[in-house]
Amino acid sequence: MMRTSECVIDLGALRHNLDRVRELRPQAKIMAMVKANAYGHGLIPVATTLASADALGVAFMEEAMQLRTAGVLTPIALLEGVFSPAELQVAAEQGFQIVIHHEQQLRWLLNANVRPLKVWVKVNTGMNRLGFRPEDLLKVWVALKHARQVGQLGLMTHLACADELRNNTTQAQLDTLARCQEEVQLNPCVEEISVANSAAILGWPQVQGDWVRPGLMLYGSSPLSEHSAASLGLQPVMSLRAAVMAVQPVKAGESVGYGGLWTAPQDQRVALINLGYGDGYPRTADASTKVAIAGRHYRLAGRVSMDMLAVDIGQDNVDLGAPVELWGKHIAVDEVAAGAATLAYELFCKVTARVPRRYLPGS
Ligand SMILES: *Cc1c(COP(=O)(O)O)cnc(C)c1O
Repeated sequence: MMRTSECVIDLGALRHNLDRVRELRPQAKIMAMVKANAYGHGLIPVATTLASADALGVAFMEEAMQLRTAGVLTPIALLEGVFSPAELQVAAEQGFQIVIHHEQQLRWLLNANVRPLKVWVKVNTGMNRLGFRPEDLLKVWVALKHARQVGQLGLMTHLACADELRNNTTQAQLDTLARCQEEVQLNPCVEEISVANSAAILGWPQVQGDWVRPGLMLYGSSPLSEHSAASLGLQPVMSLRAAVMAVQPVKAGESVGYGGLWTAPQDQRVALINLGYGDGYPRTADASTKVAIAGRHYRLAGRVSMDMLAVDIGQDNVDLGAPVELWGKHIAVDEVAAGAATLAYELFCKVTARVPRRYLPGS
């Protein structure tokens, strides 16, 4: 029997999801977010597939340099900006777009001798994480507007609650942003705005702007809890697969796995799958979490172990080596995430290095 766990990445689905962004926001430029190893999907193959985006968004310099080293020529934006004056030099040499979210980054830029960069000023409209407060924005904006280090200027903000369609935080953030635009007298002919993440692209048509910044939706997960990815026209990109490594008969009343959390309601079988939390499957997945074996849906039986997990197959029999999908085309990653009290963002990022990656070509 082969040990067959793998993480399959469907680059055709990735391309489809990029087209879906274009369909939803035909006027906008797209900054495709590929930070954190492209949400665990593999930075270089993903970036290469998304090369036709208007820019690729990464968190910081190391990720951007990996892209350049691999020969990816798409414009790149550093969403957390630079962490030192030396990095600013590199960013300018490489032509990276930078975000400025802090006074110190502003001073580094204004004191630097660099060729002009595209600079995004991040304004904190209510997320209260990164960014200048609205009352401090005008001063920053005026300083940058006339700075020789600035090629093009943009205004960026990030939404805290766009995944909740009935949360009025989003409208409050949009109102604050509108006041900021007015105060700095943003010139729409030469200065740009960027607001929308995946949730806003899909759920908030009133969130406008020159650039959108999709991440999660590109990977085929829904950021909106009331809407499945499929219903939003997204295709799953990652499939986490394994195989049946044993079938264990259990008698009614016997329990399975650590802590004996699951007890057989009848004389039956459980299937053991060669994949566990050591591979990135969430240990917190509850008994409602589905697993597909040879295309049929079952549920977990008991606690997920490091190297394996057990599945309640009732009276069914399954073949040793039968193909198992933990999430992907049959089982939506968002359902698994819900069963584990987390989000697909985290599941994607946590698939560990011991699971071999396999890429299906985009076309
Ligand atoms: C990660 C990130 C995004 C993308 O968010 P998704 O919810 O994955 O679409 C957009 N903007 C910023 C600033 C980010 O850090």
